[in-house]
Amino acid sequence: MATTADLLPEAVDAVVVGAGFAGLYALHKLRQQGLTVRVFEAAPDVGGTWYYNRYPGARCDVESVDYCYSFSDDLQQEWTWTEKYATQAEILRYINWVADKLDLRRGITFNTRVTSAVLDEDSLRWTVTTDTGAVVCARFCLMATGPLSAALTPQFAGLNGFGGRIYHTADWPHEGVDFTGRRVAVIGTGSSGVQSIPIIAEQAEQLYVFQRTPNYSVPAGNRPLSAEDVAQVKATYAERRRLSWQSGGGSPHVAHPKLTMEVSDEERRAAFEKRWQLGGVLFSKTFRDQMIDSRANEEARKFYEEKIRAVIDDPDVAELLIPSDHPIGTKRICTDTNYFQTFNRPDVELVSVRRTPITSIDADGINTSDAHYDVDTIVLATGFDAMTGALGKMEIAGRGGETLNDDWRDGPRTYLGLGVDGYPNLFVVSGPGAPAVLANMVLHAEAHVNWIAGCIRHLDDHGYTAIEATKEAVDEWGAELARRAEATLFTKADSWYMGANVPGKPRVFMLFIGGFGVYLDICAEVADAGYKGFALLKAD
Ligand code: FAD
Ligand code: NAP
Repeated sequence: MATTADLLPEAVDAVVVGAGFAGLYALHKLRQQGLTVRVFEAAPDVGGTWYYNRYPGARCDVESVDYCYSFSDDLQQEWTWTEKYATQAEILRYINWVADKLDLRRGITFNTRVTSAVLDEDSLRWTVTTDTGAVVCARFCLMATGPLSAALTPQFAGLNGFGGRIYHTADWPHEGVDFTGRRVAVIGTGSSGVQSIPIIAEQAEQLYVFQRTPNYSVPAGNRPLSAEDVAQVKATYAERRRLSWQSGGGSPHVAHPKLTMEVSDEERRAAFEKRWQLGGVLFSKTFRDQMIDSRANEEARKFYEEKIRAVIDDPDVAELLIPSDHPIGTKRICTDTNYFQTFNRPDVELVSVRRTPITSIDADGINTSDAHYDVDTIVLATGFDAMTGALGKMEIAGRGGETLNDDWRDGPRTYLGLGVDGYPNLFVVSGPGAPAVLANMVLHAEAHVNWIAGCIRHLDDHGYTAIEATKEAVDEWGAELARRAEATLFTKADSWYMGANVPGKPRVFMLFIGGFGVYLDICAEVADAGYKGFALLKAD
């Protein structure tokens, strides 16, 4: 016969939702601190982003040697990356290796989606419910649900009636897809499209690329890492990480010391060229004023345009592929290998859905306003309901039964991206209100988890039950985020940073734009000042 104890939910100190880079480190760190922790993960295994995004060409766009945990020198010395930008498969192998090494799996319940987290205001504890019926009661809730984990599928008329196969880049089949002999449509030309298109083109009989907004993409310059490269990084990791923690984006590269227009034309060009050779997304940080000053940005854009025009054979195609609607860098710059050259192939056609919108999909393919494209495979590289999508799928109910979805109706409200008023002891990891996707996300996850762990220790050392952001601090942080964003060019783009890619989503710049190092200093100051802007609480 079941006893009362059997019917009570499992009680733990902390529930962590998600087993990507962030959730895994949270489990390790909090466990080390002596807390009991239960992780719930919707997927069958660890990895998060790198579990799901198995599309051809998927790689990191932050250098592999930086895009990995820094908290253990043993880990970073023992693991050896083989390429400048690691493939999805190698990153997933790394995450699995860490999970095994730190014995993390026994703390994770897989194939289990958290459906709700509800606060009990008397005890200040959370009841976390899942789709398998498992229920856990916890003092702390860490939402490590990922800023880019809720895939977005546009509601094209007739999509469900398509007779061929449909794949989303963020939910790619584990066995892979062989495009040989297929007539393929890729919809979307963000980072996922830009990485996958050249490889799909090599296999497919015919590829149509449906582009709505052209994106800036800079060649990755990917290459194998030599034994000397690896040895050099390993010998200097401490310094590399020190620079990364202080930097604007969590990588050790430093912008040119002068402003764009302070230097001669030759010096400016040389600086852009040097960054171009470094490869990828960091091109937007060649000079530190590039994302603030339109004239500086225009210099970078002109350099970019020249480079891209030089590799595209057909000037009309080049015209379509080169962005003109947003300053360079205000959407994440894509990092590619032979993306633009792919459009020189006779079996690849670019379709501008800005000029001729997709009107419907039927059994045989895609209809635009002026043509029918006969395809047997559609790849949706259409992105994510970013930053808030995964959080919004759960019912998170705080004080007075208010839900996060209601409270965030006009856009996310947080203090430091970490806490929310009305939701004591609920922490968001790498979500809105923080630099998050503007930084190297592995270091960002470590930084957030370290701060949360320190905060929990402070509560315990001083006999507090809970911590809760004050409404004033949340309002002020929101104003601070907006003030900083408005001082830059970022608000000039219809980006997913602004929620612009999701119909009906409030248009708010959701990230802290002031730089990773600056943000970490602010978080440290708040903690050092006894968690200024938070109320420290004792349960009745
Ligand atoms: P995720 O890895 O997204 O993990 C979140 C986990 O939470 C997922 O496994 C999900 O299943 C789980 N989850 C969500 N909701 C629930 C729920 N209700 N119940 C249970 N489980 C749930 N960033 C960089 O800094 N550099 C890069 O090079 C880079 N490349 C990227 C490439 C791609 C293709 C994508 C999509 C993103 C990339 N990013 C990159 C961003 C990337 O998301 C982060 O770097 C990082 O992997 C995020 O880790 P995370 O643990 O915060 O979230
Ligand atoms: P994304 O940048 O949001 O791109 C989605 C693409 O789909 C855009 O081109 C978008 O056009 C298009 N699209 C969306 N809805 C459409 C519709 N209804 N009709 C036609 N086109 C439509 O998504 P993503 O490429 O998956 O990348 C998201 C983020 O993940 C990146 O910015 C990056 O942070 C990360 N990422 C990184 C890498 C890497 O290199 N390491 C790789 C993949 C992803 P519009 O622009 O017009 O909306």
